[in-house]
Amino acid sequence: MAMQKWWWWASKRVWNRNYCMTSGVARERVECVVIGAGVVGLCVARELALRGRQVLVLDSAPTFGTGTSSRNSEVIHAGIYYPPNSLKAIFCVRGRQLLYQYCSERQVPHKQIGKLIVATGSSEIHKLHYLMDCGIQNGVDGLVMMEGSQAMRIEPELRCSKALLSPVSGIVDTHSFMLSLVGDAENCGTIFSYNTAVIGGHVEQDQLCLHVSQTKHLEMCNGTSPLQPEMVLIPKLVVNSAGLSAPALAKRFDGLHSALIPTPHYARGCYFTLSNTQICPFKHLIYPVPEDGGLGVHVTLDLNGQLKFGPNVEWIDGIDDVSSFLNKFDYSVCISHMKLFYHEIKKYYPNLKDGSLEPGYAGIRPKLSGPRQSPVDFVIQGEDIHGITGLVNLFGIESPGLTSSMAIAEHIAINFFRC
Ligand SMILES: Cc1cc2nc3c(=O)[nH]c(=O)nc-3n(C[C@H](O)[C@H](O)[C@H](O)COP(=O)(O)OP(=O)(O)OC[C@H]3O[C@@H](n4cnc5c(N)ncnc54)[C@H](O)[C@@H]3O)c2cc1C
Repeated sequence: MAMQKWWWWASKRVWNRNYCMTSGVARERVECVVIGAGVVGLCVARELALRGRQVLVLDSAPTFGTGTSSRNSEVIHAGIYYPPNSLKAIFCVRGRQLLYQYCSERQVPHKQIGKLIVATGSSEIHKLHYLMDCGIQNGVDGLVMMEGSQAMRIEPELRCSKALLSPVSGIVDTHSFMLSLVGDAENCGTIFSYNTAVIGGHVEQDQLCLHVSQTKHLEMCNGTSPLQPEMVLIPKLVVNSAGLSAPALAKRFDGLHSALIPTPHYARGCYFTLSNTQICPFKHLIYPVPEDGGLGVHVTLDLNGQLKFGPNVEWIDGIDDVSSFLNKFDYSVCISHMKLFYHEIKKYYPNLKDGSLEPGYAGIRPKLSGPRQSPVDFVIQGEDIHGITGLVNLFGIESPGLTSSMAIAEHIAINFFRC
């Protein structure tokens, strides 16, 4: 069935079979609903479908992957930065292995180009040693501490006093990866309904009923009258993987204890590209030591050899929940930050020419900690925490969410849905 036709099909089916109607709203039973067709939602949908579940994916956008999943560095992380035994560390390491294997088997463009994390002053060297210890504890293989001279031999444009080489880091074409996931899920019978927003829900007999509306009706909403669902779905299993909107959506689940929903914080990360460059100056990903809220303005390459710098960290205010379902976040790249980019990049790439940077794009990190607060781990919340049968909320799936996506899906299928 054509994906976009689902809405029509479901309404028709409800109408024809005269399903139970409450206040004039059609109700439909389904087995699994995945909210959000970002890379995480797609992995979850594929995993559940491969394990024999009937899956319906709902996304408020006109197609898959229009949120954070298409606004990131496309780096396959090794698993170095995250505290040992954290979900980020466990899923990043497992997810990286699954992702490389999947990309190789399915010819998804990717490359294991390796990464150098660099100290540009003696005060940063202890941080490299800390990262190396962390990486080893997390099970990252092949880490090598290098003298600056050694690193500069393999990357002649680089300037650093010491570097940590991570050979297992790489890059992936995220769009091709997501396209492949959609294909797998569809082949197993998953139905995708785009332009379809989940606007809330309520609990009936311990089970979450989802309130669903066409996105075009949300766009017409003036914010003064309450949102009206056009359909109520009654799934056995629900995964809230609405990315930046996941906490706002969970707040609209009547019956879910609000104290369990973390406060979201948003940190925009902007990228600048290098203009008029025929030859790429670097072969590896080059990262400075991490900063508060992010991994530092680093050098990323895409699979066409195009180089980009970023992302920086700009803490921004949230927006109202309906605007967030419509992805009306401010993704503008502020030109005034360019000066700071030159300053940061020239610390490790002194030959960067003035006037060579151009604004690229921006992504927004769905964070659970604010400025100067300690980083918070991924939150994966099931029935054991909130008591609602079959509901899994995914909160704070920031970096390394892309790398971790297949491992998160595996974890959900095994631990929450026992399939
Ligand atoms: C600047 C930046 C750089 C990053 N770099 C990397 C990296 O190099 N490597 C890495 O591993 N990770 C990286 N990440 C993290 C990674 O991009 C994310 O963890 C991942 O994309 C999250 O995917 P998701 O599916 O959870 O969310 P999203 O991709 O945001 O998907 C959520 C989906 O939910 C939909 N939605 C929202 N509300 C509703 C609703 N009410 N009803 C229906 N649908 C709804 C949206 O339309 C969207 O499609 C980076 C993130 C940022 C911001």
